[in-house]
Amino acid sequence: MTARILHGGPVAAAIRARVADEVRALASRGIVPRLEVILVGDDPASRVYVGSKGRACAEAGIRSHTEELSADVPAAELAAAIASRNADPDVDGILLQMPLPKPLDGRAFLDLIEPSKDVDGFHPVNVGLLHQGRPAFVPCTPAGIVELLESSGVVIEGTRAVVLGRSEIVGKPMAALLLARHATVTTCHSRTRSLADVCREADLLVAAIGKPALVTAGFVKHGAVVVDVGVNRVEDAALVARLFPGDAGRLDQVAKRGYTLVGDVDFAAVREVAGAITPVPGGVGPLTIAGLLASTVLAAKRRRGL
Ligand code: NAP
Repeated sequence: MTARILHGGPVAAAIRARVADEVRALASRGIVPRLEVILVGDDPASRVYVGSKGRACAEAGIRSHTEELSADVPAAELAAAIASRNADPDVDGILLQMPLPKPLDGRAFLDLIEPSKDVDGFHPVNVGLLHQGRPAFVPCTPAGIVELLESSGVVIEGTRAVVLGRSEIVGKPMAALLLARHATVTTCHSRTRSLADVCREADLLVAAIGKPALVTAGFVKHGAVVVDVGVNRVEDAALVARLFPGDAGRLDQVAKRGYTLVGDVDFAAVREVAGAITPVPGGVGPLTIAGLLASTVLAAKRRRGL
């Protein structure tokens, strides 16, 4: 069996087009949604993500602004930056880019964001609402995965789903969303025993662990749907040659750029067993930013009772 490839790009493009329509409709009523991003420190990956989010907002007609704070910003100053945005009636969404540099405690600052502006869905109020099955703002990556599955005709109801990873950003909200759609959900993590055996029971397997190609063909039931959330930089050309046999493009990336992006799933091996699989890159990735845009517009509408 060679799996159907579930591409995120077209689904993300459809979400963005829908968002742009909604932004135009709001603009005709004099409303332009506004997202405020706070970036602390110099993490290069965070800087790239924030840049992409800003460009995507501009394309969709959403106003966005990024406040850059140094890694040694006093806690009180960061708290004040969040408080001023909470209090500003012109701000619809607030995004505090994670991770925060040590010793700042990310969770403590996420707790300060006003829940009605928490477009990432990380505030305990929004986490609680999600787990009660009445979601308000939902973390963008798992929300995007559900949209990808549903728009690809993948049945969730009644399936055995295994979520590999229990982070607040992906694993836990993913499990909650699948449960709300009537899957029978198991969440695995670093202490799970017989991991491959548990994963092999899944009709739907979502891998979000941050370990390149850990999920091999032996983890996957014949015909299962496999969603690969992992984004890992792999620099080792020998490993890349083994993971992507005959793929000169991948080796070329390593030679020119120094790395290639690899998911948590051994794509070449697993696609021979799975029924459907998301690639890395080009699978889940594009959906995350599209979800953020959708959440920002949702916040702008909700705050005005629309
Ligand atoms: P995270 O916070 O580091 O959590 C990783 C989870 O995986 C933890 O629950 C951990 O278990 C578990 N884990 C780690 N090693 C394991 C192993 N060998 N066996 C079983 N479980 C293991 O990661 P995250 O933020 O959820 O991100 C996961 C991956 O998704 C990363 O590669 C990240 O870059 C990627 N990601 C992609 C997008 C996107 O838009 N495509 C968005 C977000 C994240 P414990 O809890 O026991 O430690």
